[in-house]
Amino acid sequence: MRLRADAGTCAGAGQCARVAPDLFDQDGDGLVVLLRAEARGPARERALLTADLCPSGALRVHGSA
Ligand code: SF4
Repeated sequence: MRLRADAGTCAGAGQCARVAPDLFDQDGDGLVVLLRAEARGPARERALLTADLCPSGALRVHGSA
């Protein structure tokens, strides 16, 4: 599963970094930083959850593998 994070859309709410710290971080302004562009195994579930939780729609997931 491929991940995309748009810092220009991010609202800095931080749910992504709390739910999936292996996939997302926040920069000094609180905006999302994508740590890994690929999620496999258990990380896929966390990636899907963060996309649902993100209040700004800044996170996108693509593909099923
Ligand atoms: S959950 Fe969405 S709005 Fe919040 S930091 Fe992550 S990408 Fe930004």
